[in-house]
Formats: sequence, structure tokens, C-alpha cells
Amino acid sequence: MSTFAEVLDLLWQLQALDVASIAAREKIAREETRANHSERAVEALMVKRAEADAGYKRLEVKHRELEAELKRLDGRIRQIESVPGSEEAVAKHRESIDKLEMDGIALLGEIDASKAGVAQLASDIEAQRRIADMERAGAKATRAEQQAIIDANRLARDQLSARVPEDALKVYESAAQRHPGSALARVSTDFCAVCSGELNMHLIMRAKARTEFVRCPHCARILDPAAA
Ligand SMILES: [Zn+2]
Repeated sequence: MSTFAEVLDLLWQLQALDVASIAAREKIAREETRANHSERAVEALMVKRAEADAGYKRLEVKHRELEAELKRLDGRIRQIESVPGSEEAVAKHRESIDKLEMDGIALLGEIDASKAGVAQLASDIEAQRRIADMERAGAKATRAEQQAIIDANRLARDQLSARVPEDALKVYESAAQRHPGSALARVSTDFCAVCSGELNMHLIMRAKARTEFVRCPHCARILDPAAA
């Protein structure tokens, strides 16, 4: 049978394993969040590219319609220009053709800009996808590596727990549930080292004796001023 001080020492070892496992899980979560974020950025760019592409196609349709209208007006002029008295109508058609040709030039400029925009988005998507793939691969590797740490800690924890009396383990587990990775707290002069709540002398003396569980009255952590 171990002394209560030894039990406390074992609980500190247990907490060290818990801290390491929590850190490992956080590392996994952090990298997966980053990869998810980058993948969402790829999807957002793809939506943007689809919109830009639709805009580009609309401009091309507009340009084809403009060309057809030019052709129609040309044909009309050819039909009527030999007819006496058609000068005015021909001149009006020519005027329309001039205006359409100006519009056509402007439209070609828009089409070029739109095409460049689509191409830029395509290359942005490629770049973002490379980042996302790299991060996903990194997150996968991290998960494998950190999961091994978590598994090893679990094993070590089981072995360690077996050496702690059941009721003491219960006290630790309930405090650990409330404060993952910091169920035990040291005392720094007159304060709980974790929550900084003030502790009275009597409480500190009891905790220093290491013969019973003494809880911080502010955060309910297990106080252990004598821990190495
Ligand atoms: Zn406290």
C-alpha cells in the first residue's frame, strides 16, 4: 500500500500523460482545421471561376450576335443599294454598322479581360489546391504520429492507474474532467498556481502535509504544494 504522498506523485505522472495526450489531440485538430480551411478556399475559388466563366461565355454569345447582326446589315445593303432611291436607307444601315463595329471593338476588349480573369482564377485554384494537398498530407502524417503518442500514453496511463487506489483515482478523474490536463495544481506562495485564487494558511499547511486531498476553494483543483 502506497502512502498518500506517493499517490499524489503517481497522479502527477498521470497528469503529465494527460497533458501530452491533450497536446497531441490539439495538434491533430489544429492541422486538420488548417487543411479544411484551405480546401474551403479552393472551393470558393472554384465557385468564383464558374461565375467568371459564365460571364465570359455570355460575352462571347453577345459577340456572336453582334457579328450576325453586322452580316445581316451587310446583306441588306447589298440587296437594296442598286435600287433607286435607297440611298437614305443604305446610309442608315452603314451608320448602324459603324456603331456596331465600335461596340464590337469594346466587346473584344471585355472578352480579353474576362478570359484573362478566368485564366488567373484557374492558376489561383491550382496554387491553392497545391497548398491544400500539402496541408492535408501534413495533417494525415501528424494524425498518424500523434495518434501513436496518444495510444502509448493510454497504455502507460492504464498501467499507472492500476497503481493508484480506486477512490483516489476517482477524485483525480472527476477533477480532470472539469479541468483537462490540470486537475492538480501547485501552490505559489499564498495562491493556487493555476487559478491564482488566494489560499489561507491552514489550507496550505494541510496541503503541504500530503496526507489527504485538499481542493482549491476557488477552482476545486487538487492542491499539492510539495510536488517536485
Ligand atoms: Zn485554484
